[in-house]
Amino acid sequence: MIEFSYEALPMRVRFGAEAAQAVGDEIRHLGLSRVLMLSTPFQAELARNLSRQLGGLSAGVFSEAEMHVPVEVAAKARAAAGELGADACVAVGGGSTIGLGKAIALEYGLPIIAVPTTFAGSEMTPIWGITEGGEKKTGRDRRVLPTSVVYDPELTRTLPTGMCVVSGFNAIAHAVEGLYAPDRSPIISLMAAEGVRALSRSLPAIVAEPGAVAPRADALRGSWLCGAVLGATTMSLHHKLCHVLGGRLNLPHAETHTVVLPHVLAFNQPVAGDARRSLEEALGVDDPARELQRLARELGAPGSLAELGMRETDVAAVVEQVLAQPYANPRPVDAAAASAIVRNAFSGAEV
Ligand code: NAD
Repeated sequence: MIEFSYEALPMRVRFGAEAAQAVGDEIRHLGLSRVLMLSTPFQAELARNLSRQLGGLSAGVFSEAEMHVPVEVAAKARAAAGELGADACVAVGGGSTIGLGKAIALEYGLPIIAVPTTFAGSEMTPIWGITEGGEKKTGRDRRVLPTSVVYDPELTRTLPTGMCVVSGFNAIAHAVEGLYAPDRSPIISLMAAEGVRALSRSLPAIVAEPGAVAPRADALRGSWLCGAVLGATTMSLHHKLCHVLGGRLNLPHAETHTVVLPHVLAFNQPVAGDARRSLEEALGVDDPARELQRLARELGAPGSLAELGMRETDVAAVVEQVLAQPYANPRPVDAAAASAIVRNAFSGAEV
């Protein structure tokens, strides 16, 4: 008999709808009347367009979201929300923009309507992160869980294929670690396996036909499932390692996940029987770690941390930081094992 406990997170999900229409519906459904649109500078035009279409329901646009939510940007966005009398935020973009909405929610409790345009999955989680003095603090808080999520696959059309691939692998990493999480449950394992199936099928289709919406919709549906897995379970060595590599060396988030995942999975899969079987079935292979590395390479993703800017002299400090804090992992991790994983990811060794 397996024992588990499972708590469903309260949120509304609209998939496939035209974003402006669906966001307007959500604002009215939630009884809101003045939303602040959030975006990065790169996606400011998209945010302004949505704002125009919302008419009087939009209080304005704050388009200064940045990777890893610097504390100064969070303070500026909170001030803008206060000055404009916003009663909610609409975060249009990837994990960085949704992260900014979460930083506002953490302090002011403003509800978030998330409109994701990457596959990172932050919209499905109560996890926040804020960076101060080069150090990223993260935590879980129900206040930052978006109230509504609007998935419009059309908005992912502008995401270049290379970014689709690494963002998709970022999502797959949530599912892989959810499958061997200490707090996994049958429903979460089903979502994880289906998320991996959808993404491993759709990413090659996106690369083959970048202008087609159907494979992007398939990937976005997979990323929703993988994000829900991230929100419901405790992540292990892979996420810990990527957090350290991103925070300490400022390596790019999704690319780092893509490179590291096969190495951590190759280490964990011999002891994680159920997870391995689910992944074998989802991927249609008998070595999931090797298959994920093969797929990433075939789709042109970076293959080593060296390519992302890491230096060999960084290995020891990364290993030390990873071992300094305890985290869940199905297989015990000692210094020799952590060092081998980081070295192999650094050089892009075959798994
Ligand atoms: P991102 O949000 O940093 O976006 C990267 C760039 O791509 C930005 O300039 C953005 O404007 C642009 N972009 C996004 N969507 C686009 C589109 N459709 N077309 C064209 N350009 C587009 O990237 P990300 O990988 O989504 O997010 C990474 C961040 O999210 C990291 O800081 C990570 O820690 C965080 N994250 C948090 C969680 C969580 O649960 N809290 C989960 C996953 C990721």
